[in-house]
Amino acid sequence: MWTSSFIGTSTHANEPEVIKATVDAGIWDVVLTSYNFVQEHREDVKKAIAYAVSKGVGVVAMKTRETAAIRYGQSLKGILYCQNCRSCVSTCRESVSVPDLIRAYMYKEGYRNPIQARQTIAELPAGKGLDACTECSTCTAVCRNGIDIPDRVRTLIADNMHWG
Ligand code: SF4
Ligand code: SF4
Repeated sequence: MWTSSFIGTSTHANEPEVIKATVDAGIWDVVLTSYNFVQEHREDVKKAIAYAVSKGVGVVAMKTRETAAIRYGQSLKGILYCQNCRSCVSTCRESVSVPDLIRAYMYKEGYRNPIQARQTIAELPAGKGLDACTECSTCTAVCRNGIDIPDRVRTLIADNMHWG
């Protein structure tokens, strides 16, 4: 069994400043932040979240208690997440297990754990994982929740997430 530990900060005031300081410190894995549509400074929080994501620091949104707020939070690329609905599988020309690839991407990019990413991909049946994607000229897979699947797949291939 793989286990991992992460260190993080949390904030529910001065969020943009705290997020930026967290990222720039260079030692934290993740930041928990308030983020919702009633915040007057939400655009600044949004920019700070984008900055954290661009630097590889994970972001968890807190206090998104209302459904609208949750949808607002999910509208940000950096904190979109796979709900394992599997509706994307039928949009892939090879019926690849796309949610598992998305999970592998999360391990690699979100948790900075390429070993667990490779393990996840290695456990997929032949022809239903990244091996199929490497032979595929154009990714047709579509996520109904807005995750950019072709981008995730390209990144996994480019970073050689196969074993060996
Ligand atoms: S690249 Fe996209 S469409 Fe092609 S096999 Fe992989 S997930 Fe399916
Ligand atoms: S459609 Fe999107 S949310 Fe659903 S399993 Fe596929 S990647 Fe995940």
